[in-house]
Amino acid sequence: MTIPLNATHDPAARSWVESANQAATDFPIQNLPLAIVRRAEGHDGHARGAAAIGDRVLDLAALSATGLLHGPAASACAAAAQPALNDYFALGPAAWHALRHNLFALLRDEAPEHVRQRVAECLLPMDAVLHELPARIGNYTDFYTSIHHALNVGRLIAPQNPLTPNFQWLPIAYHGRASSVRVGAPGFGFHRPMGQAMPPGAEAPVYGACARLDFELEMGFFVGGGNALGRPIPLAEAEAHIAGLVLLNDWSARDHQFWEMAPLGPFLGKNFCTTISPWVVSLEALAPYRVPFVRDAGDPQPLAYLDDPGQRAHGGLDIQLDVRIDTARHREGGIDPSTIARTSFRHQYWTPAQMVAQHTVGGCNLEPGDLIGTGTVSGPTPGEAGAIVELSLGGRAPITLPGTGEQRAFLEDGDTVILRGWCEGAGRARIGFGECRGVVLSAIGPGGAD
Ligand code: CA
Repeated sequence: MTIPLNATHDPAARSWVESANQAATDFPIQNLPLAIVRRAEGHDGHARGAAAIGDRVLDLAALSATGLLHGPAASACAAAAQPALNDYFALGPAAWHALRHNLFALLRDEAPEHVRQRVAECLLPMDAVLHELPARIGNYTDFYTSIHHALNVGRLIAPQNPLTPNFQWLPIAYHGRASSVRVGAPGFGFHRPMGQAMPPGAEAPVYGACARLDFELEMGFFVGGGNALGRPIPLAEAEAHIAGLVLLNDWSARDHQFWEMAPLGPFLGKNFCTTISPWVVSLEALAPYRVPFVRDAGDPQPLAYLDDPGQRAHGGLDIQLDVRIDTARHREGGIDPSTIARTSFRHQYWTPAQMVAQHTVGGCNLEPGDLIGTGTVSGPTPGEAGAIVELSLGGRAPITLPGTGEQRAFLEDGDTVILRGWCEGAGRARIGFGECRGVVLSAIGPGGAD
């Protein structure tokens, strides 16, 4: 399934919400991502769905009550107005398309005055809302689909044989922990995890606070309609099951992870916290930024169930990504966060559709609201690495933060990591994902004391 470009992608389209027309906004009228919000103050604090437009959020519960929408768009809006987007995700592409096109019509500058007035009453300032998770996440799976990340990390663990034999034949993943997924909104923090590690050269493992705390720059996507147990989703249908994308940070305790993960894979090293950006950007919004899924001629070509002409033509997504760090010294000095990595999602070795096909090929059933991580996104050059363990070569070569001159081998308490994502290109409207943030708080021991 490919979504053709349509009127909602017109780069010349403008909104009567003036902030949506500013060149740098992540949320022009061509984007219209959805999230779950509640008012930060006041009595009306219940969670409900919302769409982003410029520096405003459109309250879909309020919009639903206006009666301005009809037919499938009204049903979709009512579903999206709930305190979680699971029911909306389950409706599928026709409903997502109907709501997007109706929101576009209501918000574009050609909308009649009486419509503008009624919709304007449903708008809230973005800084007046707090975010909840977009959906009740029943299951979270994290893939490992960047060959550059796999090679960078593989060289640290097994320099002679950095790429496992399966990597080029199937999208590898582990089943993650859904309960510790949080929205990476401003102010969110988590405590440095405690655990067991085997220091280099030691004769016995030690218990203590993680000494090698890392981030992982990833994309995530929410499953739309699910599949019945035992009924795989064919590759050609896989994108119809992807409700939208977010930024994802798979925080990782490398010392705990590298000690525990043989032979069963990550456990405590990755289950203490995962953060996602609040706004879910649809595949329809991303349609202008599709790129070919490319395999080098010398690489194994995907087996037939992971290969089709549509994926080869436009299975990839050109999403620009960067990672910034904001330390106590930045905040004290009024210094902008330091950019430490920048890359594009287009370099991934496997596409989201291939991840869906692989996840279900054995019969596993996906459910609406399941969260799928793509794995760390690292590009081909050193400055494109999506984890500090890669940037610092396993801690041996600490990076210097531009702006403050501080050095980091791994994350320190008080460090805020900020992921950003956006798409831009000639003749296309720039759209963005916003940010995914989290600050590292000091460890809490078993007795509860810091
Ligand atoms: Ca990961």
